[in-house]
Amino acid sequence: MNLRPEPLAYELSSPGRVGVSLPGCDVPETPVPSSLLRVELDLPELDELTVVRHFTRLSQKNYSIDTQYYPLGSCTMKYNPKANEAAAALPGWRGAHPLVSDAHNQGAIELIYRLQESLKAIGGFKTVSLQPAAGAHGELAGVFMIRAYHLAYGNPGRVKMLIPDSAHGTNPASCTMAGLTTVTIPSDAEGGVDMERLAAECDDTVAGIMITNPSTLGLFERNIEKIAKMVHDASGLVYGDGANMNALTGVLRPADVGIDVMHFNLHKTFSTPHGGGGPGVGMVGAAASLAEYVPGPIAAEKNGKYSMEMPSKSIGRIKAFYGNFAVLVRAYTYIRMLGADGLVRLAENAVLNANYIKARLEKVYPVKYPRRCMHEFVAMGNFIDGIHTLDIAKRLIDYGFHPPTIYFPLIVPEALMIEPTETESKETLDAFIEAMLKIAEEAKSNPELLHDAPHGTPVGRLDEVAAARNPVLCYRG
Ligand SMILES: *Cc1c(COP(=O)(O)O)cnc(C)c1O
Repeated sequence: MNLRPEPLAYELSSPGRVGVSLPGCDVPETPVPSSLLRVELDLPELDELTVVRHFTRLSQKNYSIDTQYYPLGSCTMKYNPKANEAAAALPGWRGAHPLVSDAHNQGAIELIYRLQESLKAIGGFKTVSLQPAAGAHGELAGVFMIRAYHLAYGNPGRVKMLIPDSAHGTNPASCTMAGLTTVTIPSDAEGGVDMERLAAECDDTVAGIMITNPSTLGLFERNIEKIAKMVHDASGLVYGDGANMNALTGVLRPADVGIDVMHFNLHKTFSTPHGGGGPGVGMVGAAASLAEYVPGPIAAEKNGKYSMEMPSKSIGRIKAFYGNFAVLVRAYTYIRMLGADGLVRLAENAVLNANYIKARLEKVYPVKYPRRCMHEFVAMGNFIDGIHTLDIAKRLIDYGFHPPTIYFPLIVPEALMIEPTETESKETLDAFIEAMLKIAEEAKSNPELLHDAPHGTPVGRLDEVAAARNPVLCYRG
C-alpha cells in the first residue's frame, strides 16, 4: 500500500523544466501568428521521468481483460490471444499502403478472400463482405440491402421492420437511420418472439424482421425457422443480428434456418480487443436472396490471382479501402488457430460456463426466464428491498471484478446480464460466483456497504447523470 498520496504531474510543474533537449535552430525562425497561440493554456513544465510515471500510473488504473475478469453480457469480452496481435503487427501488413494496386497487394487480398471463405462456411452464406466497421455498421448495411432489394422488385411501400423487444438498441437505430419505420414485437412468457403478434404485423408493408439469436436474454429462439417462414411468406426478408455467435460457432449455420443477411461482430466472436469504440468489423454475410447486394468491394479469386470486385447490385462502399484490415488479420489468425473442431468447442464451453454460473447463482439472484441459457443469462439484482442492481454492480468493483451489463435488456427489471465467455477457468468463475454470493449476504447484513460502493477506487460512487451531462475531463487544481 502506498502511504504517500500520489503526486499529480500538474502539481510538480516547475518553471523552465523540460523533458527534451533540442539542438539549436539551423533555419531562420518564423514567428507563429499570435492568433494561433492560446496564451491561457497553462501547460505543466515537467521532465520526462515525471511524465512517464504520470501516464504509467494512469494506465495502471485501467481495467482490462489482460488484468481482470469481464463478465460483460452482450459484449463477448473474451481473452484475445497474443498470437493475433503478433500476426496483425507483421511488417508486411502493417506497412501496406492503402493506395497500392491489387497486383501489389496480393497477400492482403488473399487473406481477405480466405477469411471471407471461412466466414461463409461458418454462417452458411453465399457471399460475405468485410467492409462494415462495427456490428451497428453491419446492421445499417444489411438494412440498406433489404431496402435495395424491395426497390429492385418494385415495392417501395415495404418500409416496416419488425424488431423483438429484447433487441439491442442499435437495431431500431440502424433501421431508423436507413429510413425505415420500426415496429416492436413483444416477447412471450418464455422469452421468445410472440408469434401471434408477429403474424398480425406480417402485411404487405413489411420489409423484414431484425432478430437476434440467441437473443439478448441469452435464449435460443426455438421458433426461428417458423419466424423466417412467416416473414418470407409475407415477402419480407430476415436480418440476423449475429453479435451472439459465440454461442453457435460450428454448431448452427444461420443461413440454414432462414436468415437472408446477418452481421457477425468479428471483434467479439473472433477476438479483437474492443470497447470504448475501438476498431471492429461487422462483417455482413448474405444468402442467395441478397448475395449481390452486399457492400463492396469484396475479394475474388481467379486462377490464383486475387482482386477486389464490386458485386453486381451492391449497395456500394460503406468504408474506405479494405475496412479495418488489422481486425481481419486477427480474426483470420484466430479461426485458423482454432480450426473447425476448435470453433465447436468454443461455443460449447461458452454455453457450459454460462450455465454453470447460472446454476450456482439463480437461487439467490432470480432469473426471469429460467430456461437453459446459451452463452449468457439475465438475472435480477432486486432480490431484497432497498437493494438495486446498481449497488451490486458497484460492490463487485471492490472485489476486483468488472460488473456485468446492467439494466439491459430493458424487458427484465433490474437486469444483470452475465456473459462469462469460454476463455475463463473454473477457478475464475468460482471466484466470481463467491463474490456475488458474498455481496448477496452483505445486502442483508450491511446494505450501506453496497449503497456506498465502490470503496477502493480513485473516485467513489458517481452521480452518473451529472457525470454524463457535465463530464469533467481535465485536471482542475
Ligand atoms: C454489440 C452488439 C451490437 C452492436 O455491435 P457493435 O459492434 O458494438 O456496433 C448489436 N447487437 C447486439 C446484440 C450486440 O451485443
